[in-house]
Amino acid sequence: MTKYIVITGGVISGVGKGVATASIGRILKENGFSVTAIKIDPYINCDAGTMRPTEHGEVWVTGDGGEIDQDLGNYERFLEQPIPKRNNITTGQIYKTLIEKERRGDFLGETVQFIPHVPDEIKNRIKEASAGFDLALIEIGGTVGDYENIPFLFAMKSLENEIGKINICYALVTYLPVPSHISEMKTKPTQLAIKLLREEGIQPDFILCRGKQALDEPRKRKIEQYSNILSDHIISMPDVTGDNTPNTLYVIPLDLEKEKLGDKLMKILGLNPKKTPDWSEWKSAVNRLVNPKKEISVGIVGKYLKIGDFQLIDSYISIHEAIKHASSKNDVKVNLVWINAPELEEPKANISRILSGIKGIIIPGGFGSSGVEGKIKAITYCRENHVPFLGLCYGLQLAVIEFARNVCGLNGAHTTEIDPHTKYPVIDLLPEQENIMEKGGTMRLGEYPAILTENSRVRELYHNVGEISERHRHRYEVNPLFHQILQEKGLVFSGMSPNGKLVEFIELPQHKFFIGTQAHPEFKSSLLHPAPLFDGFVESCLK
Ligand code: GLN
Repeated sequence: MTKYIVITGGVISGVGKGVATASIGRILKENGFSVTAIKIDPYINCDAGTMRPTEHGEVWVTGDGGEIDQDLGNYERFLEQPIPKRNNITTGQIYKTLIEKERRGDFLGETVQFIPHVPDEIKNRIKEASAGFDLALIEIGGTVGDYENIPFLFAMKSLENEIGKINICYALVTYLPVPSHISEMKTKPTQLAIKLLREEGIQPDFILCRGKQALDEPRKRKIEQYSNILSDHIISMPDVTGDNTPNTLYVIPLDLEKEKLGDKLMKILGLNPKKTPDWSEWKSAVNRLVNPKKEISVGIVGKYLKIGDFQLIDSYISIHEAIKHASSKNDVKVNLVWINAPELEEPKANISRILSGIKGIIIPGGFGSSGVEGKIKAITYCRENHVPFLGLCYGLQLAVIEFARNVCGLNGAHTTEIDPHTKYPVIDLLPEQENIMEKGGTMRLGEYPAILTENSRVRELYHNVGEISERHRHRYEVNPLFHQILQEKGLVFSGMSPNGKLVEFIELPQHKFFIGTQAHPEFKSSLLHPAPLFDGFVESCLK
């Protein structure tokens, strides 16, 4: 039977529940258990696909084509296993299902009510997502005390009654502020958060204390005394980003292990480890991140107007992490420089000056017209000056447009996403895509295979494997009408869909590193297994 660890958050939002959940998952996996993680989002959206990334962070794409909250990305990066879309449960999904069932007559004669129907639907979904696993982590989004997560806390208590307390435990991640006028870490907000959780009938077994610095013994004892939680179960989780800190989230499982959180969790759930954890590889990967031997700068050209630094990283979190993974592998610190594409469009823009000092350029995924000509200018610069270039999705499409215009002489070549009447629609909607749209979908979403071309750079980077698969999220494709001219002029299609119709990877063979992919390999990258294209890109930026 599956055992559950429920993670809630107190005091403030953004307290780091996602990374805490992912880290706990990794620890238990290291102890030999099969683990999965479930994210509960109390919002009414059915998924994150329609949310603005600059507000809500990146839209994470699962292997089975879900457009999901970015926390699932952390779960996958730490657990190194695919997490399917059903592991994201939202209020919208719960009510949608219940209303559909009611309309279908599934509850004929009954009054459909909040209790028991809502908690039952929540529990059903949790059981489905966790079936077959030793352990399931359930992260409840939002903060205790929010109206909207009460139904989920109620469902947890009901699950506890069903399966028994030995099979479920609760952790509360809280924040301990250090007000500048007293310079002392305060425990009161944490005490109040514990109280709020108890109002829902839930007694937290563990308190994970986030804060600028580590929690000291007097404060652990204070929480113990005022809230009746054993100080042994009050775990310190200090900041890992900022001045004088290792600046990597990947240190968190190691920090939590110092507090013996894994052993304590297993004890409370009546479990014995199935194997001895081996953190050696993880530790050396973290060490290379903390003390890198080299340092370089890499540019990401996008449209970043009116976005603060924090949202910026959040909207591109998977690329940011994939670069980190590749940095660790190559023992280098990579500073990401965010280059605002519209700036490159100015007629007087001095591209080589703006891009000076930058060792390579990434063009990330994107939609719409803003900044597109600036991105194309950056691609020309990379192509002509042997500057490493990695194009991700839109990045590939724009590289094809650039090549069509400037090498094939197809003046005005474009994507029909921006210019529906272009003379040379090198990027276009294909019949395959129209089929998806007829079925109510709008994008090619999720994992798709690609056959890699022999002797290509891409195939070499994928360790000479003939067929690989990566995740997709796009509508448009390289137009087959132009495949021949692009190839004749020297663009190599280094990976195609198995039916040979869709271009999945491109490269320029004589170039230091000029590679584009229609996919988003950043979604499958992890610290111990960096995405091959990111690894190769960082490696050639170093040369
Ligand atoms: N806008 C492009 C398309 O829909 C690319 C999407 C992306 O980069 N994810 O095909």
